[in-house]
Amino acid sequence: MSIATIDPTNGQVLKTFDEMTDQQLEAALTRAADGFARLRTTGFAERARWMTAAADLLDAERDDVARTMTTEMGKTYASAKAEVVKCAAACRYYAAHAEGFLADEPADAAAVGATRAYGRYQPMGPVLAVMPWNFPLWQVMRFAAPALMAGNVGLLKHASNVPQTALYLDELFRRAGFPAGAFQTLLIGSAQVDRVLADPRVRAATLTGSEGAGRSIGASAGRYLKKTVLELGGSDPFVVMPSADVEQAAEVATVARCQNNGQSCIAAKRFIVHADVYDAFADAFVARMAALTVGDPMADGTDIGPLATERGRAEVEEQVRDAADKGASVLCGGQRPDRAGWWYPPTVVADLTPEMRMYAEEVFGPVAGLYRVSSYEEAIALANGTNYGLGSNAWTRDPAEQERFVADLDAGLVFINGMTTSYPELPFGGVRNSGYGRELSAQGIREFCDLKAVWIG
Ligand code: NDP
Repeated sequence: MSIATIDPTNGQVLKTFDEMTDQQLEAALTRAADGFARLRTTGFAERARWMTAAADLLDAERDDVARTMTTEMGKTYASAKAEVVKCAAACRYYAAHAEGFLADEPADAAAVGATRAYGRYQPMGPVLAVMPWNFPLWQVMRFAAPALMAGNVGLLKHASNVPQTALYLDELFRRAGFPAGAFQTLLIGSAQVDRVLADPRVRAATLTGSEGAGRSIGASAGRYLKKTVLELGGSDPFVVMPSADVEQAAEVATVARCQNNGQSCIAAKRFIVHADVYDAFADAFVARMAALTVGDPMADGTDIGPLATERGRAEVEEQVRDAADKGASVLCGGQRPDRAGWWYPPTVVADLTPEMRMYAEEVFGPVAGLYRVSSYEEAIALANGTNYGLGSNAWTRDPAEQERFVADLDAGLVFINGMTTSYPELPFGGVRNSGYGRELSAQGIREFCDLKAVWIG
């Protein structure tokens, strides 16, 4: 795929970019190695100053950056502005906490015959970040803020449809004061990723994206013995039990499914509802989904813009058509409008069966699958019944049942009576085919550090 900004509201190519030449890529890798040699000699206080300056730049430039994101991938301008603010907060969070998270870990010196013994976290070096277009600033920042605060340097291979956001990030950290080479955008296609990973100057990689990309990068990383963190897709369950506040659950379900035009790895995608409250939930949910405003993502009052890519829209359309052809009921939406651009309406599909694609696959658009169950056991079996395990939600006011969900949901994140969201304070990542490793929190900054055992006699 060529590197270009294509307006998803009408399919117009706005700007194209040349891939880096071999010489430019080589120069970038050299700059990364030199940048690491310099950055690893700096202290937390100095890096925190630069990271705080990056946060200040983001706050000051919020509206322009948000407009670029909306133009490149169609998220609403309001949500793009919120994304910029969230990124600035993450920069400040790691500026404040990195030193504490990476403090030496004391060990029992006497037990190992030493006068002092401890574990020390040290940065690994240049880390390749392969990132997706859905949260084009946030996905990068939740890697970059902890990585740079640890003293690593970043090499960003961003998705091919968000090059202007990628180039903004290329400048941001340098403008904030970080040394040259501390963070660079590589304008390369996915075919070049293996070669970058093979380079001995690159020590590790992180990917947020599809399962296929995860398998490919995981295989390369295995060949070259490089550490990876993989944050892949999800088909998150949203379970509603009889004791739930059904109206509130329906309201949150609508946002949880349709945030970011339905293109979020942690969006709730499968709504698993107990028979006792199924009709009440279905009525409230379908009414809310059908009432959402689809339109110009720059306009106030728009809930849902276009999907980001033509291919993504075709995939969603095909998944819904497949279900309808095999007997599912489409309760609202289901037909794309007859206009240019990659539009798809909020859609609810019920009566899904295992032979339908939607039953097991991730749907990356504003399309909800609705399931009726008659017991806790049936709800858990369905919730855990895909190969994914990223986020999960359960709605119940029964404390004992809440505990059961926490224990039984096979996922990296469990949210009870609320929407799955990422917070700098909480670890973020999946199990099974949703990937491995954790971002954010203390865990996230340690992923790309070597832990050195120190023994002093
Ligand atoms: P991809 O996984 O294809 O793209 C994500 C990133 O990985 C991009 O930078 C892409 O580069 C790169 N990439 C893709 N294939 C490879 C590869 N074989 N080797 C190295 N890098 C690769 O996601 P798509 O945008 O195509 O979306 C497809 C599906 O992925 C979605 O429907 C959704 O299921 C899932 N997805 C999940 C996301 C999440 O947040 N977990 C985010 C986005 C997508 P390039 O753009 O140049 O192809």
